[in-house]
Amino acid sequence: MQKKDLLYEGKAKKVYQTEDPQVYIVSYKDDATAFNGLKKGTIVGKGVVNNQMSNFMFRLLEKKGIPTHYVEELNDRETAVKRVDIVPLEVIVRNKAAGSLSKRLGLAEGTPMGETVLEFSYKNDDLGDPMVNDYHILAMGLATREEIDRIAQMSLQINQLMLDFFKSVNVDLIDFKLEFGKTQDGQIILADEISPDTCRFWDADTGEKLDKDRFRRDMGGVEEAYAEMMKRLGL
Ligand code: UDP
Repeated sequence: MQKKDLLYEGKAKKVYQTEDPQVYIVSYKDDATAFNGLKKGTIVGKGVVNNQMSNFMFRLLEKKGIPTHYVEELNDRETAVKRVDIVPLEVIVRNKAAGSLSKRLGLAEGTPMGETVLEFSYKNDDLGDPMVNDYHILAMGLATREEIDRIAQMSLQINQLMLDFFKSVNVDLIDFKLEFGKTQDGQIILADEISPDTCRFWDADTGEKLDKDRFRRDMGGVEEAYAEMMKRLGL
C-alpha cells in the first residue's frame, strides 16, 4: 500500500489517497490542539499512541459486530482505512458529567448521568462545532432520519462495549466522541479515531486523568498519561 496525493490535513491527522480508490491512508501527527485550535502544542509520541490505540479499539469493536473503517495497520503512525464520506456530525457519548456538559448544566465533574447521554455537534470549525439536535440535522440535510437512528444505535452499542472493556483495565470511561462515515453503498460505519484525544479516561481507583484534559488544562504528565493508557491495553 503506497501513499499517493495528500487529500486532507487536519489538526491531528493527514489523509492520503492510495492506488486503490476505495482505500485511504491515515497518518497520525504529534500536533495537539484544544479549544477549537486556540491552544496549540505537541504531545511527543501521541501519533503513535492514537494510531495503535484506535486500531486496537476498531479491531475489538469489529469482533463484536460493529462495522468500522479499519483495514490494516501499516506502521507505527499509519493505517489503511476504507474510503467513506464523513457524516458531518460529531457524536458525543457521556456516562458521567465532565467538560462542556459540566459547565453548561452546572454538574460537578464525575456526576453519573442517570441515562447515557448522546449529543450531536455540526462538524464546522468556523462555527466551533455547534451542538445540534435531530431537527437541525434533518433541516440542514446533514443526515437522514434512518442515518441518525442508526448512528445513535451504533453509538450506544459501542459505549456498552467500550465501558466493559475499559472497566477490565481499571479505567472509568467518562465520555468520548465518535465520527461515522458512509460507504459508496450507503452503509454507515465507524470512522475517525478512538484515543486519549477523543475520550476521557479516569483511573478507576484514583480518578487520575489519563487523557487530553492534561494538555487542555496544563496539568503536566501528558506523555506519561498516554503511555499509561497504552500499557493498560497491553500495547
Ligand atoms: N471531544 C473531541 N473533539 C471535540 C470535542 C470533544 O474528541 O472537538 C471529546 C472530548 O475529548 C471528550 C468528549 O468529546 O472526551 C466530550 O467533550 P466536551 O463536550 O466536554 O468538550 P470539551 O470539554 O473537551 O471542550
